[in-house]
Amino acid sequence: MPQDKLLAITTTILVCWVIFIIAWERISPYRKGLAFFREGFWVDLVWYTLIQSYFLKILIFDYLIAPVQHHFNWSAIQFVKDWPIAVQVLFFVVTHDLYIYLFHRFQHSNKTFWRIHEAHHSGKEVDFLSGSRSHAIEIIINQTIEFAPIILLGADPAVIPIKALLDAMFGMFIHANVKVKLGKFKYFLNSPELHLWHHANYQEVFHANFSTKFAVWDHLFGTAYDPGHAPGNKPENWGLGYHYPKDYFLQHAFSLKRFHEPDLLKYPWFKRYYYLRPALLSAFLRIFWKKNSSKPNVQQPEIYNTPLTSHQQKEILQ
Ligand SMILES: [Zn+2]
Ligand SMILES: [Zn+2]
Repeated sequence: MPQDKLLAITTTILVCWVIFIIAWERISPYRKGLAFFREGFWVDLVWYTLIQSYFLKILIFDYLIAPVQHHFNWSAIQFVKDWPIAVQVLFFVVTHDLYIYLFHRFQHSNKTFWRIHEAHHSGKEVDFLSGSRSHAIEIIINQTIEFAPIILLGADPAVIPIKALLDAMFGMFIHANVKVKLGKFKYFLNSPELHLWHHANYQEVFHANFSTKFAVWDHLFGTAYDPGHAPGNKPENWGLGYHYPKDYFLQHAFSLKRFHEPDLLKYPWFKRYYYLRPALLSAFLRIFWKKNSSKPNVQQPEIYNTPLTSHQQKEILQ
């Protein structure tokens, strides 16, 4: 099948899947009352899903994998070349999923690598889009390790869009705010039942539920946490136990240097930048819905008012 036709098919399936998941979240929510345009929705959609993905795809495929592919002769190790496409997909799905489990587990136990993973845990309202919030360095590491072997070991070009589609579908599914019971399959397949707990703010789950597609890794390696009930619906039950920046660039800066985002608002240039996005959005909505021009429907970003406890200060400023 020509690659452009395959891309059209995978894109269509993905769009249908998004519509399906959004409808499912409305019909059977895991946490009731979660708004569609929840806290961080636009950051996740515009910065992480659209802009970051676009540029990192170019970086990973054209500037990291392609030079390695062209610089060396890989024909001697292209053992997957003659396998049926379905077997190639299965092989890379399983091996990469095991790698992701191990790397994810390592990130939770290593201080430096936690810095490039905490962004993923920062959302207090987790839904189908939350999986997209991953630090740029985390994506570069994981997707290079994911797609380089597919290309270098001689897989069919169809494997890349099929694998990418499965990643996107599973990513949305395990983060979706949906009530789902997989029965006995939950020991094999991952689902929101386990992964939403991984996003909860509890000691017990900080070192649990690392799986992405196959929950079997957590059960096999003894890291499954499945208490049979939901984490609770209060903000403190979810996300990080310390303040985390709301801005895309500050989220990345925070991984290098700890700071308290609201403190930066004392600088006029920062204040202008910080409020630029909601101001632009308000202006856009005012033009779009002229009738409501006097009441733009966009809130300013919330500013933290709660002082940090000394323990939190110590933890984030270290
Ligand atoms: Zn994690
Ligand atoms: Zn997650």
